[in-house]
Amino acid sequence: MKSFRGSKRIWPGYVPPNKNELLSSWIFRNSREHKIKPHSFTKFYLNTSSFWTRDVDKFINNETLHLICKQTPLSITQIKDMQLVSYQDIIFNGELLTSYSQGISNLGIYHRTRTQNGLLICPTCLGRDKYYKKKWRLLTSIGCLECNSYYIDCCPKCLSPIIFQRLAIGEKSTYQEYPIYLCWKCHYDYRKCRQIRLPKIVRNYQNYIDKTIADGYNRHINYSFLYFDIVYLILRRVQSGSTLWTRIRDAFIKEFGIKEPELFHKCQFPSFKLRSKIIPFIYIIMEDWPESFVIFCKKHNLRYSDFTRGEHDLPFWFYRIFRDFF
Ligand SMILES: [Zn+2]
Ligand SMILES: [Zn+2]
Repeated sequence: MKSFRGSKRIWPGYVPPNKNELLSSWIFRNSREHKIKPHSFTKFYLNTSSFWTRDVDKFINNETLHLICKQTPLSITQIKDMQLVSYQDIIFNGELLTSYSQGISNLGIYHRTRTQNGLLICPTCLGRDKYYKKKWRLLTSIGCLECNSYYIDCCPKCLSPIIFQRLAIGEKSTYQEYPIYLCWKCHYDYRKCRQIRLPKIVRNYQNYIDKTIADGYNRHINYSFLYFDIVYLILRRVQSGSTLWTRIRDAFIKEFGIKEPELFHKCQFPSFKLRSKIIPFIYIIMEDWPESFVIFCKKHNLRYSDFTRGEHDLPFWFYRIFRDFF
């Protein structure tokens, strides 16, 4: 029997979203509650057979959005709040794009599989809470402060990307339910992952980032996305395929002893391994703003043009340092 709430026709086994849960994770849990495979669930209730072949945490079409709204107690705003668009004006400014939006990972969707390790997990959180969190799609997410351990971006045993909805793919006609904390491919139990404790600098870094996202501002600047603009700009300058503009990369190699070969290949989405090495150092050089940054730039002879590469002006709060100290 379906229940009625106003004009809504609520799913019989409806379960509400958890705190900061991804839309895909919530729909997946609802399909389980109904003992229906996720693909069949979205086909039946949302009238779409392509739900799982899109990055639904980035985009769903209006029809699907309204169908979800009609069949759950949630408002459109509450549904969108589970999507990555909720980081608009916090991490990125302007529209959320499927191809690239600052700070948001790409999954590299290819049919039912993924070519990129765009979804992270904290194995302990996943084992305990049994849902996937929004911040596990952010490029600045490196470690879980609650569990004091690094996130992982793939199965440690078979190295497959994390694709939880594929846990349900089995015999066509039979419904199978594997625990959400298993690898879809080899059924490795993520909870058994060796936990790597976060060094103090990564803890401080992640704490600052998490707080910046929660507040929408930080002690650097009133608008958090302007802070992230610079973090990602420096990340792009450190990982660079350029043979001409190498000074920021050279400075990081010299100062922090980073030796990853990946540094020399330009890539829109640096690997989790590289991000977790470089981004905390970006935080460090900017920590005691502006003193630590000025010292770093002077020591390595970095100029404003190394950051802009003559392309475009950078946010005033950043530019001002070069105007005032150089
Ligand atoms: Zn955790
Ligand atoms: Zn595996």
